[in-house]
Amino acid sequence: MTTTLTGRPAAPGAALALAFALADAPGADQPLPESRQGDVDTEVARLDAALATAGEQLTALAERVAESAGEEEAEIFEAHAEFAEDPELRDQAVEAIGGGLSAERAIVVAFGAFRELLAASASEYLAARAEDLDDVRDRVVALLQGRSVEVEAPTVRSVVLARELTPSRTASLPRELIAALVTETGSPTSHAAILARSLGIPAVVACEGVLAAVETAGDGVEVVVDGRSGEVVIAPDDHLRAEVADRIDAEAARREALGELRDEPGQTGDGHRVELAANLGDPGDLEAAIAAGAEGSGLVRTEFLFQDRTDEPSVDDQVGFYLEVLRAFPGQRVVFRTMDIGADKPLAFVARDPEENPALGLRGIRLHLARPELFRDQLRALVRAHRAAADEDAGRLAVMFPLVAVPSELLAARTLLAAAAEDEGVSLDGVEVGVMVEVPSAAVGARRFAEHVDFLSIGTNDLLQYLFAVDRLNGAVADLADVCDPVALGLIGRVIADGHAGGAWVGICGEAASDPVVAAALVGLGADELSMTRVAIPEVKDVLRSLELERCQRAVHIAMEEGADGREVRALLEEHLGLG
Ligand code: PEP
Ligand code: MG
Repeated sequence: MTTTLTGRPAAPGAALALAFALADAPGADQPLPESRQGDVDTEVARLDAALATAGEQLTALAERVAESAGEEEAEIFEAHAEFAEDPELRDQAVEAIGGGLSAERAIVVAFGAFRELLAASASEYLAARAEDLDDVRDRVVALLQGRSVEVEAPTVRSVVLARELTPSRTASLPRELIAALVTETGSPTSHAAILARSLGIPAVVACEGVLAAVETAGDGVEVVVDGRSGEVVIAPDDHLRAEVADRIDAEAARREALGELRDEPGQTGDGHRVELAANLGDPGDLEAAIAAGAEGSGLVRTEFLFQDRTDEPSVDDQVGFYLEVLRAFPGQRVVFRTMDIGADKPLAFVARDPEENPALGLRGIRLHLARPELFRDQLRALVRAHRAAADEDAGRLAVMFPLVAVPSELLAARTLLAAAAEDEGVSLDGVEVGVMVEVPSAAVGARRFAEHVDFLSIGTNDLLQYLFAVDRLNGAVADLADVCDPVALGLIGRVIADGHAGGAWVGICGEAASDPVVAAALVGLGADELSMTRVAIPEVKDVLRSLELERCQRAVHIAMEEGADGREVRALLEEHLGLG
């Protein structure tokens, strides 16, 4: 009997394959011994062996993931390996063993203390990493108990179903045998979902009841997964099987066809130019961004280049990074966003006092101006990189400032940039300067900012967070911050029009630009550039090339006028753009 369930879409694509239900981590519910059986030295030796093995396993996993999914995804496991090798964590566990606890219990205690320490030192970002800490802790405990942490894997291509998937379990699965992933729990922003997306595996999360349905259907049952709608069908009938097989063939043909667009410019079907650039945060991603057909970068998140460092990068270190990115895009614009430190992006080498509301606190340009030393070094590095790049066939430097709320911040930042250029004896001719529009005051006052810059870049991630008062890290309220809400689209349209009236070009660099329907709406509102996650570029390029500018304009205006909320606006956009 066919059963249809719906979860949350987490990675696009269709799949039809045999079901393979992963058991929960074996023995995970086994009780832990409370007290140490032998002497302290023996117990510490057991602990050290388990920590060392965990570190080695996680480093090997990082290497495997770097090969299959890319450097950026591998960083999760490099960080996991660092947790396992952390001397402070070990010291805490050793102390607990000295106090009479077993190595298993001591490591649980140490991880607990470690988590509290991190959470107290810096913001929500670390809270979001709690699942990573648990993943490493469980591996060490399993090793101490002599349990295997290797995940059982299917031997034929299958839809893998699980109650939950940690990042390391996901990465341990053999990529070529995974047709799709379905979990009972989880959210589309979890690392497992991010990994699935970057591996190109369709995925559905929060699909309650799927394991029981597969068990009831019995061995050898097939499952259809639609990673776009979130629909999961157990024991599909012949009609659906044939339909999905056709869909899978069409998707493969589409991917191949999209590859041919790589060197084509971003534009509408009637030749209206819209630059399609990549958001970058890791030099390891440059090659993949170029392969995806990125036209430069509309957002280099420079703070991400240094997120693994515990000491401040020198000016020369920074010049090296910036030049590497500029060299990857000859003749194209590369927009470096000065370090946006604070709130969800703390950096270990920038000590900050705890804040009650870090998202509303000392972050972005506010931190630059309150503590200008780091900012000055970064500006010097950027202008030096510009001088070096000018002698080569490299990209064109553009600089933009994050989280600006009032024009005086922008003017102060510009003054510091001019001073850095003067100190370095570098001319800023040809260097575009812009401002991120991600605070409602900057959006409403866009015209006043546009007069002082070459460009505005709308950061929809933060703009929606502040516009709708929705913490961008809190999944429970995420649905409210909908870029298709007529208020949000109306505001974005106004920023674009005011930016143009003030003589600036206007781009979008938030996640919203990577959704093809929204991208077409943004073009209809007059956006000159869209910068997005690299994997989205081919699809967005293709969709825009299939649409005339006037159709995008008409669709977005009808949708905003007739749609009462984000859901209705999206449906109207799809209808009037002919996308669905
Ligand atoms: C944004 O806020 O939309 C943005 C692009 O910046 P970040 O996501 O890095 O805060
Ligand atoms: Mg932002």
